[in-house]
Amino acid sequence: MKTIEREVIVVGSGPGGSACASYMAREGVDVLLLDKERWPRDKVCGDSQAEVTMKHVRELGAFEELSVVGYPNKGFLLTSPDYQKAYLPAPGVRFSTPRRLFDNIMKNTAIRHGAEFMEECWVSDVIMEDGQVRGVKAKYEGEYVEFRSKIVIGADGAHSRVARALGMFPDNPPDTGAGLRCFYENCEHEGYIEIHFDKDVLPGYIWIFPSGSAGNNVVNVGIGFGMDIYNGRTLQESVEVFIQNSPFGERLKKAKQISPWKGWRLPTAPQAFDNFAAGAMLIGDAGSFILPLTGEGVGPAMETGKMAADTAMEALKKGDFSLKTMSKFGERWHNTYDEKYKSMLAMNDAFRKPEAINDTVNMYLTNEEFKAEVLKLMYFADSAQ
Ligand SMILES: Cc1cc2nc3c(=O)[nH]c(=O)nc-3n(C[C@H](O)[C@H](O)[C@H](O)COP(=O)(O)OP(=O)(O)OC[C@H]3O[C@@H](n4cnc5c(N)ncnc54)[C@H](O)[C@@H]3O)c2cc1C
Repeated sequence: MKTIEREVIVVGSGPGGSACASYMAREGVDVLLLDKERWPRDKVCGDSQAEVTMKHVRELGAFEELSVVGYPNKGFLLTSPDYQKAYLPAPGVRFSTPRRLFDNIMKNTAIRHGAEFMEECWVSDVIMEDGQVRGVKAKYEGEYVEFRSKIVIGADGAHSRVARALGMFPDNPPDTGAGLRCFYENCEHEGYIEIHFDKDVLPGYIWIFPSGSAGNNVVNVGIGFGMDIYNGRTLQESVEVFIQNSPFGERLKKAKQISPWKGWRLPTAPQAFDNFAAGAMLIGDAGSFILPLTGEGVGPAMETGKMAADTAMEALKKGDFSLKTMSKFGERWHNTYDEKYKSMLAMNDAFRKPEAINDTVNMYLTNEEFKAEVLKLMYFADSAQ
């Protein structure tokens, strides 16, 4: 069997893997980034790049390139079951960009920083030796290959093979969501990314996000649900009811659907516990880091990518890849996210009941102090600096 050896192997070149590889490669680490798809590839998503994402885009030098293709949205527009509107103006520049374009920019950024990239390389298992991960097994160009390394970063998304191989693939119904998305063109909008807590769709929600800079008023339309709260309709039926009954859905009758519906899994943060082992770390969706309330996962994927890169570089310096050294990754993400997850979960629970959403939106519109708290929570103001 063919063997290839590198210092660090990152499995998956989505935003998490690409950011992680960039942060290591630019410090001179010998990084190999593997992905099973032929690039550029699509990813089912709402396509919004929020504050923490933008922080890493800037830090890695990809802002100029992204600003050419991204739509600079003005922030969130939330609507309540009693049809009130709450505008949440964004604190800085943020984009919504189709993932096919955004992810390719970030993957090319990793290559520019010095990472090596191999596409159409399907990882099937990890190599374990003396209780430590020492690489991955994959199929590449029709051949089985062993990629050996000192550290493996699992950045292979919501269906992660690396997480399964490590016995760390949680799928708890309340903490795993499902989403469905398609694109429409000629849909009027006000330049905000819209989330509609519609009375006919609750406890799920509908989003309508302006998409990219290509014109034609293209929007990304989707529906998000927790897997424990099926309301008796299929997701597509719920969207149809929204289009027929809601004053905010009505404009989609005149717009044109230009892509099929596609669905994907959303592993959210409350189940992110065991996501490191001797010689390995799981970042982004592979480590279940999606935020519970907003479904935002790109920022957490890049942020945990940076945390894993810092931990990996410390381990390489010490020549120590033990569980204890890798546990620094756990410390890092708990410090950054524990409190945020707690507040978002509380709000997420409240946002399943129509009366609670009506009251919250009403309070946002009438109480300046509450408004400031909500803006801080939604925009992660402290971590976006
Ligand atoms: C419907 C929906 C809407 C969403 N909307 C938003 C949003 O608007 N904003 C936001 O921030 N987040 C959103 N999210 C969440 C976001 O899409 C994810 O959190 C984000 O993509 C995670 O990035 P990642 O790098 O961890 O994984 P991914 O982006 O999934 O990348 C994983 C990569 O690993 C590769 N891979 C997988 N398996 C293997 C294998 N065995 N071998 C080799 N390579 C492999 C894949 O090809 C892929 O390129 C949404 C999610 C869904 C489902």
